[in-house]
Amino acid sequence: MAECIFCKIAEGRVESQTVYEDEQVKAFYDLNPQAPVHVLIIPKEHLTNALELTAERTALAGHLVVVASRLAQQLGIAESGFRLVLNCNEHGGQAVDHLHFHLLGGRQMNWPPG
Ligand code: 5GP
Ligand code: ZN
Repeated sequence: MAECIFCKIAEGRVESQTVYEDEQVKAFYDLNPQAPVHVLIIPKEHLTNALELTAERTALAGHLVVVASRLAQQLGIAESGFRLVLNCNEHGGQAVDHLHFHLLGGRQMNWPPG
């Protein structure tokens, strides 16, 4: 999608601090970090949110989670712990309408979330 900020990041048309990239996904640091480690993991294909993770996209959904898990280890937050967040639509607090996981760590998380 031409005007989607995360599509632009996926295509390298907007700068991002990339931590991982392959054919299907890209991971980069959040511009406004909410924890000492705050990385976003996105599919390069424009999917609006989790509702577009249909059965045909099971492999992509799994790949996004596997990348997140591997990054947690590489970024040193696996042992201490981390949170993987997927906000969807208004009540979920989704601001950018391109599917993304937040990988957050490096501090104690609270429950219930705000
Ligand atoms: P959401 O609220 O949609 O789940 O999260 C969107 C996230 O994207 C926010 O944490 C916000 O800081 C981040 N974000 C928005 N625009 C940009 C950008 O241009 N670059 C980067 N790196 N992060 C962004
Ligand atoms: Zn997009």
